Amino acid sequence: MTNKRKIIIYWLLLLIPTTLIVGAAYQLILHEQERISKAALYSLSDRATTVSESIQITIADIESELTASLFKIPENALKETLIQWSETNPLVRNVFIWGKNDTVKLQYPVDGMESTGEERQFIKRYDALFSERIPWQADKNKSQDEFAGRQNEQESDKNKFIKKIGKLKTERRKLLDLAKVKSTPDNYAGGSSVTVNEIAFKKQSGWIPWFAENRLFILGWVQNKKDGPLFGIELELMTILSRLVTELPEINSKNSAYALLGANGQVLHQSGAFPVDSNRKPALTIPLSDLLPHWGICVYLNKKGDGTNKSFIYISCLLLAIFVIAIVAGGALLTIQAQRNLKDAIEKTSFVSSVSHELKTPLTSIRMYAELLQTGRIKKTEKINHYLSVIVTESQRLTRLVNNVLDFGRLEEGKKNYHPDNINLSALLTEIVNINRLRIEKTGLNLEVIIPDSKIQAFTDRDAIEQVVLNLVDNAIKYAVNGEKLILSLEESDPLFFQITIQDFGPGIPSGQTEKIFEKFHRVDNSLTSRQPGSGLGLSIARRILRDLNGDLLYEPGDKCGCRFIIKIRKNS
Ligand code: ADP
Repeated sequence: MTNKRKIIIYWLLLLIPTTLIVGAAYQLILHEQERISKAALYSLSDRATTVSESIQITIADIESELTASLFKIPENALKETLIQWSETNPLVRNVFIWGKNDTVKLQYPVDGMESTGEERQFIKRYDALFSERIPWQADKNKSQDEFAGRQNEQESDKNKFIKKIGKLKTERRKLLDLAKVKSTPDNYAGGSSVTVNEIAFKKQSGWIPWFAENRLFILGWVQNKKDGPLFGIELELMTILSRLVTELPEINSKNSAYALLGANGQVLHQSGAFPVDSNRKPALTIPLSDLLPHWGICVYLNKKGDGTNKSFIYISCLLLAIFVIAIVAGGALLTIQAQRNLKDAIEKTSFVSSVSHELKTPLTSIRMYAELLQTGRIKKTEKINHYLSVIVTESQRLTRLVNNVLDFGRLEEGKKNYHPDNINLSALLTEIVNINRLRIEKTGLNLEVIIPDSKIQAFTDRDAIEQVVLNLVDNAIKYAVNGEKLILSLEESDPLFFQITIQDFGPGIPSGQTEKIFEKFHRVDNSLTSRQPGSGLGLSIARRILRDLNGDLLYEPGDKCGCRFIIKIRKNS
């Protein structure tokens, strides 16, 4: 199996379970978010229901108290007491007395000049009722005893609701006190003072929600005797609501609001994170029951359509994303590392084979010439000298090779030691040229040397500089013999560096590879290079040595052809 295939399989093994885990986790997160959203909505709905039930109970209680109070009014002081109520009690908007058997049914208020504008509107409003087009319907589901004993019977149940909404309790008490309307002592003195139990059987009463003038009104009535007058009051709903709504609980949630809406959808009270208007669609509506038809408590959610804080889903998705990134990044790092290791392994193998190949060439020459000399058959001094010079040159080459390999190891481990000293660069270069001139010129290259006569003093490692220069000269011999000329020069014009330039006129370095040639093991992939022995280490070692000595090795293409390698040696390093 190729490496590429292996890597693809490993990635699939990593990514498939990761994708499955992420998919399953995302589904769970969505499910959990939905559960949280629902729970939040239920809790909002609960609060709205509590508010609604409290309002219902309070209004029902007020109605009961008012009914009980109406029953208590003595017959002989009926009109005076009712008028007094309408003038003094904020719960009472209008009062009326209506006789079933009389010719003029509505005894009070009387339509015409005697009545006020409000009274005339009141008469007009309930015309259908007062003219008996609509029958008076008594509350059937309530026994009359209930009015008397109501406070005790269901108090515990009601209290549960009332307790839930704290401050509302006080306001409710105040309203109930108002509903317990007291007749004047005079009225009682002359009255029949009936007890609640006595009226239980014959009395009738009712509360009628009434829509008129685009508003809801509530009319309460009682009838003490079978043929007696019907009388009652019109409830001032706004008094009750204006007192209750100011005390309704506030909603502190960031994403929701609730509002008490009247019969026409007008917002009577609201609380929550954003303003509510009648155009907004509620998430749920809780009606306020038949006591206040078409009224309701509406719960609204923010525009994104979710009443809950979305931070849960955001944080969970962020954690999932971190998980995926960690897996992918880990996988990618492992793949990169594996590929690096593979490349290193390949490089090491090719390094060993190219070094062995490079060592073999000088060794073979040395052995061949040494064996020839050993036979003793070579008598001519000239020949003997030539053979000996070959052996010396090749063993020097061998030494340089071995030095390069050893240096590479030391440089890789950061263990190469330098011995900087004050050296005369002109003298060093002249010496190198003198030793190598013959070797260079034998290859067919014309060596041109430009070295100033003056002493050029630098503080650097002599052997290291010699090794770098010889590496570059060897390269020129290997790759640029057809250029026929090699120029070696020393300059001191740069303010910071002395420069040794080694310029040949060979094929040069292809433009895309001018920096790559300084990478370890890199060899230009062309026929010229493949014909020459080499390990791709010479230039990388040379640059690293010079950089260690605060200098550098640069490449510049020649003017027309060839290479120009510039050795930079720091002036006061
Ligand atoms: P080696 O010579 O052992 O292959 P080097 O690091 O010395 O390794 O050189 C790297 C590569 O740069 C060589 O393989 C060769 O392709 C190219 N190169 C170096 N010097 C020259 C030059 N003077 N002319 C042309 N190509 C060169």
